[in-house]
Amino acid sequence: MKILKLLPLILLLIFSMGANSADGQNSGSDSPKLILIHLDAVSASVLRTEIDAGNMPNIKRIFNEEGLLETAITYYPSKTPFIISNIRSGTPSDTGELVGWDIPGFDYEKDFSIEDSFLKMALSKQRISRANLLQGLPFFSGLKDLALMNTLDLFDEYPVQEFYWYKADSYGHFEGEEEYLRKVRQFDERIGKYIDKLDDDINIIIYSDHGMVFGEGVELDKQISERFSEEIKIYSYPTMYLKEGTDAETMAKKVIEETDLDFAFFLQDRMTAKGFFENSTLYFEYQDGKIRYRHDGPDPFDYFDNGYNGEFLTADEWLSLTINLDYPATPVKVFAFLQNPNAGEIVTSLDNTKFNKTGYSQMGNHGGFTATDVVVPVMVRGPDVGYIGEFDKLWLQELFNELDQFTFKQEPNRDTHYISSRYDFSTNTNRTVTAFSPTYRFRLGADIDFGDFNGADLNQVWGKYDIFRSQLARVWIGGGVDFSRTDTVGMFMIRHEFRIRNFSAKTSLTTNKNNQFTLAYDIHDNFSLELTNFSAVGFRLSL
Ligand SMILES: [Zn+2]
Repeated sequence: MKILKLLPLILLLIFSMGANSADGQNSGSDSPKLILIHLDAVSASVLRTEIDAGNMPNIKRIFNEEGLLETAITYYPSKTPFIISNIRSGTPSDTGELVGWDIPGFDYEKDFSIEDSFLKMALSKQRISRANLLQGLPFFSGLKDLALMNTLDLFDEYPVQEFYWYKADSYGHFEGEEEYLRKVRQFDERIGKYIDKLDDDINIIIYSDHGMVFGEGVELDKQISERFSEEIKIYSYPTMYLKEGTDAETMAKKVIEETDLDFAFFLQDRMTAKGFFENSTLYFEYQDGKIRYRHDGPDPFDYFDNGYNGEFLTADEWLSLTINLDYPATPVKVFAFLQNPNAGEIVTSLDNTKFNKTGYSQMGNHGGFTATDVVVPVMVRGPDVGYIGEFDKLWLQELFNELDQFTFKQEPNRDTHYISSRYDFSTNTNRTVTAFSPTYRFRLGADIDFGDFNGADLNQVWGKYDIFRSQLARVWIGGGVDFSRTDTVGMFMIRHEFRIRNFSAKTSLTTNKNNQFTLAYDIHDNFSLELTNFSAVGFRLSL
């Protein structure tokens, strides 16, 4: 199809659409920039020990002065699905939905299987950071560092970005403390390199969601299913769902006596949580927004030796009084979680010398309410978030209340328009591609061939839609019309792009056999050099 006369018009159209890009590709480019890094499974005490041992020179250099808050307290259950799916909305633990990996959701008349939980957790994240979930697994973990560095180039499109560093968590579960600490130190090294490249106006928040307990592995699931399959419906540490007719108090006492569990609590009435530890009976009594703690037998929490006098305290008062003890704010945590309609009738915890050993957690685990599980660090730097470092304590569930000025789910208005041109030395032809993006994730384009100087031929027109995007890769599917043969034919295409900073590799597969493999290098934000099918060289100009 001869289109020589149309060509100037197409180009004019493309570049006039590009001209309005002065106000940015992004609606949110006025909003302050932020990288929010979710550091999985590093407690405040691990961080402090490693800093003091000189193993985290970058964290110390970048945050230690005023940007490191070591007294944040996370959710109980201290498990990633519960934390991640609730923290963004600031949902407290008495209403949060997804309490574990494999749990019933009574409010929703459906159970969450492990697969559902994984999906639900993934979908609570920003689209481009969902793949971080897989990059935590040992097999994929090499991609993690590359993905983190790529976020440096994404702030124009995504002024507010999130990044999930799961490595320490997965290595802690699978490999044990030594490998875990190696990954914690590796985080320091990688984050040091990353932040040194980050512009000063970009805010940084790094928070950890929970800690990790090593020590003796005890197989609670097995112990409970062997002894109590008649009475207990599901046990998903630390929460226990009873079968109809099982008495919570009798069961709580039995599991303390007959399993390795250290604590078991249930609601005695609407205002009282009652629990057992060894030979002690423990009470958390609620009244007018305050909680009082009583015990018969020894006090496992040591509250009375540390300034507690049996009075009713608010949640904040509990936190201030107990943040440095082994069981910080446990009355608040346990009472609140027992109010959650999705929590089991009994909630439990091990002390910090034992962990719940499962198929996934061979060497370490978390989920309970000891300091090792729940006291976490928050690191901040930047003009809009620096003040958070000066808090003397923080309920992690309130972190996002401080981040109102940041818009997390925003997406660019559109993708770039581009024109690319390449000369193929094997066929002595030139192909020029023009594409424009009317809206984000859509591109429409035309491929035009210039052969032996007697005109231009419209080779194909196409449209494509982006079905997947991560910090590293992008996948488009689309279709179009191929005019290059005697019969005009329709075609489908799938395009994959893998990017590491300025380098990208693009594969395009089409049903009309117009397959391409392109290597590209960006020499400027808007200009890249391309090598296609190892036989054509050219450039791409984007706007
Ligand atoms: Zn974990």
